[in-house]
Amino acid sequence: MPDANHNAWDAQDALRRYFGYDSFRPGQQRLVDAILAGRDALGVMPTGAGKSICYQVPALVRPGITFVVSPLVSLMGDQVRALKAAGARPSYLNSSLTLGQQNTVLKRAAEGWYQIMYVAPERLLEPRFLAFAQVAAAPGGIGVPLVAVDEAHCVSQWGQDFRPSYLDIAAFIQALPVRPVVAAFTATATERVRADIVRMLGLQRPETVVTGFDRANLFFGVEEMGDKAKTAWIRDYALNHADESGIVYCSTRKAVDELYLKLAHALEPRGIHVARYHAGMSNGDRTENQVAFINDTAPVIVATNAFGMGIDKPNVRYVIHNNVPESIEAYYQEAGRAGRDGDPASCYLLWNGNDFRLRRYLIDREPEDEGLDGEARDMARQNRYRLLSAMEGYCQTTGCLRGYILRYFGDEGALGVERPADADGAAEGCGNCSNCTTPYETEDVTEVARNVVLFVRDCNGRFGRALVADALHGANTERIRSCHLDEAPGYGSLSSESTGHIKDVIGQLVGRGYLVQSQGQYPVVGLGPHAVEVMADSPEQPFVFTMKRRAAKRRSN
Ligand code: ADP
Ligand code: ZN
Repeated sequence: MPDANHNAWDAQDALRRYFGYDSFRPGQQRLVDAILAGRDALGVMPTGAGKSICYQVPALVRPGITFVVSPLVSLMGDQVRALKAAGARPSYLNSSLTLGQQNTVLKRAAEGWYQIMYVAPERLLEPRFLAFAQVAAAPGGIGVPLVAVDEAHCVSQWGQDFRPSYLDIAAFIQALPVRPVVAAFTATATERVRADIVRMLGLQRPETVVTGFDRANLFFGVEEMGDKAKTAWIRDYALNHADESGIVYCSTRKAVDELYLKLAHALEPRGIHVARYHAGMSNGDRTENQVAFINDTAPVIVATNAFGMGIDKPNVRYVIHNNVPESIEAYYQEAGRAGRDGDPASCYLLWNGNDFRLRRYLIDREPEDEGLDGEARDMARQNRYRLLSAMEGYCQTTGCLRGYILRYFGDEGALGVERPADADGAAEGCGNCSNCTTPYETEDVTEVARNVVLFVRDCNGRFGRALVADALHGANTERIRSCHLDEAPGYGSLSSESTGHIKDVIGQLVGRGYLVQSQGQYPVVGLGPHAVEVMADSPEQPFVFTMKRRAAKRRSN
């Protein structure tokens, strides 16, 4: 019977001996302790936070062979080489080995030679492998203390990288005569994906650790502006930070090419070279541009999300998103390429309604995902809309942006303060994001809110945000007339308010559950669960929202 203290000491020792580190990071410690105490575990940590140590150390401490399920065949070799160099006895089994090599690996494994074996998920239920694992795990066998699942979100159809072969993992574990500890690891997991991981892998009361998402040296900024203003904003930013390296992300190749030309035109004469990167360019051009950026010959690169994978440039001082990415996960990963060296860096997201229209369009015409039937495709599409609406929330929130992201990943407490669910007050934020540093106006919007909600009720929630705002403002457009909104009771009832302001209030009402917005390419606004509170003739409390738009600007429409 392993005793807990002994294990803990062994773990420290293994960490030092094999990896040369003096101490575990706090999240690692909890996971390693849980695994060594025989508990299942779920570790949610961003890339680079040190997930591998969490299963490698227990694998090296406990007798028997630990299986590590990983989809990344190409990385298995690296991991094994590194462990071998550290003096451990690792192995891997995947399609890159010849049959003869596989035989050798299995034979040595059966003799108890390896402490750890990386396997591709497709391999698990293969009769020969399964038979070996069953013998190993049986009483009196060499022992299987742990099955670790890397990239565990691949088991969830709600994630972006669903892999059907991950569904075999649970069956594999069930087929073992003695159940090992099961530990799952992932870098991206929303509440929903996390629940899926627990369910689909059959984790039993796992010790769950979500940590390491905060990047304290990054400033986060969100700015709403028109397309032309974006270009000017980025140009000015690059000019004002001429000696800094930055990435500008666009959502399409065409957008990259257009912005690249404009920036190059404005920046090159001032001695700032601009590079460009997207999948439509030739290999040679891509490499050349990438090298120029990495060597700082071109401090600025305009790119699609194809750029950045596996690039580790420590001194990127800013990442500007010219368009809205598909999800908070994608955004955080791309923005997170700033400030790898730990020095202050900035991440700006510039957005407007066109970005969301484009995103919805892209979701709707998504090529049919291979291997998914109609229902699964619908589910995937719904999921993409869900991811996008979290992105919309990020753009519209007046609360702390860092807090929003950390809550999204479930990394509560990273800011060191307990934060209320709808923290709108700047005072309790991180102090290092545009919402925390901008003194927004607190405004009594009771009248606007009431008119909006009544109007939405009267037209049975058939129209989108912009059209509702136009109608309340009293706009006389073709679209208004063709929908007969100029005959609707509330038409023009908010003529003294700008449509922009009305739209903002609608956004706030949606964010707070007074209204709901449908998903799909043309989202419409309907009554939410709390709508009645707004419709009351004299509401118990005035609706005081923190509004992004300045009062001075809002009557200028
Ligand atoms: P992940 O799998 O989460 O992407 P890795 O396991 O590859 O992260 O670890 C990222 C880096 O952090 C590696 O260079 C690793 O050696 C280092 N690292 C991990 N744990 C520790 C620790 N306790 N102390 C110091 N460095 C660590
Ligand atoms: Zn903040």
